[in-house]
Amino acid sequence: MLKSHNRVYPAVSTNPEVEPYWEGARAGRLMIKHCNACGKPHFYPRTICPRCMSDATEWRAASGKGTLYTYSAMRRTKEPYAIGFVTLEEGVSMLTNIVDCDLDELRIGQKVTLRWQNAEDGTPIPVFTPA
Ligand SMILES: [Zn+2]
Repeated sequence: MLKSHNRVYPAVSTNPEVEPYWEGARAGRLMIKHCNACGKPHFYPRTICPRCMSDATEWRAASGKGTLYTYSAMRRTKEPYAIGFVTLEEGVSMLTNIVDCDLDELRIGQKVTLRWQNAEDGTPIPVFTPA
């Protein structure tokens, strides 16, 4: 067993385009963008849909449930940790940290669920843990 350690996340920098993402985070909601023109979600959040270039996009809260698409366990550090891509139930993938886990037990395709850990400035950062 190799237990993951919690990391220190740098303070968040934001801008008006993504401020609703951080507002959602501070309220415990993982916000993703959905395009009403092509009907598809995207991540990271952008005003213009990267699939069809429409600006008819809106914010929606994700369920917080996902699947581990791939990961990398950093074992040769003083405080081992894992990063990975999680594919959300809504269909988008995000690069994130996998926390509170046994690094030897992580498996591609396993179910994961949303957690929050604070950055240095107190902003909640979305991370995932085995479901
Ligand atoms: Zn679109």
